[in-house]
Amino acid sequence: MITFLSGGTGTPKLLEGARNILPDSEISVIVNTGEDIWYQGGHISPDVDTVMYLFAGLLNTDTWWGVRGDSFLTHEVLSTLLPDAYMSIGDRDRAVHIARAEWLKNGMTLTRVTQHLCSHFGVTATILPMSDSPYTTYVRTAKGDIHFQEYWVRYRGSTEISAVIHVPDEQPPATPEVTLAIRKADVVIIGPSNPVTSILPILSCTGVREELAQKKVIAISPFIGDGPVSGPAAQLMKTMEYPADSTGVRALYADLVDVFIQDERDTAQVPGAVRLDTLMKTPAIAEHLMREILTRL
Ligand code: GDP
Repeated sequence: MITFLSGGTGTPKLLEGARNILPDSEISVIVNTGEDIWYQGGHISPDVDTVMYLFAGLLNTDTWWGVRGDSFLTHEVLSTLLPDAYMSIGDRDRAVHIARAEWLKNGMTLTRVTQHLCSHFGVTATILPMSDSPYTTYVRTAKGDIHFQEYWVRYRGSTEISAVIHVPDEQPPATPEVTLAIRKADVVIIGPSNPVTSILPILSCTGVREELAQKKVIAISPFIGDGPVSGPAAQLMKTMEYPADSTGVRALYADLVDVFIQDERDTAQVPGAVRLDTLMKTPAIAEHLMREILTRL
């Protein structure tokens, strides 16, 4: 059993490669929920949705969110009624968000909701929200504290940020399922996800660091040179006062990590790091990277 810690883009690319090597039933994924948001009556769990759609064979891998070939009729109508609509949600995707919202409102946990959805979509990998308690990522800006989705989707990351904060300001409890998935793992892989908004929230869940300390942990850097492959990780690392490169990622993960992998083109020098091609432009490259990672067990 291999357990991954994942956000919604970099690690899912690696998971796409892993699926060509391992049966889905041997894969567990602990997924960040810090970016979850209630939106237009639905509950979006963006990283959980991406990982779930990937394993269901439904994911739009051009964007790494949403359902491939989805229609946007509801979004088109809603945009004329709600001019503030800043996220375009596909119809099939929206149906999942509405079902999740209904179940959560009826008292079901996010873990149970995710199991329910995974079983509906025939997913046999174990997909686990990091916590059943909210731990929402906000960024502090001159406009006030705004949800990370607003910062990234509405303002396209163009606003200056002075801090990353989480609401509520207390460690969320990891679920028993999360603890077990780490305990049962032969190795834990921290995929090349955003260290600040995807991985740190998972590491913040109570008990996760203690469980990881007992395990072999392999981490892959999402940075090549002085920038991430995509997304706002550089601004966020700087806000956290870490270097915006692989040395910063290594420092952030500190003693949790046994093997640190950085890209073979990376100009940042991380002592002891393994150099591999981590730029997953195709599933074949991701599969090759995953095979190389498995030789480091
Ligand atoms: P989010 O939830 O959508 O922010 O997705 P993640 O946190 O899972 O992934 C975002 C990170 O993935 C960014 O920091 C990117 O640099 C990284 N990333 C995306 N594609 C690749 C890739 O092919 N290789 C590597 N090494 N990192 C990648």
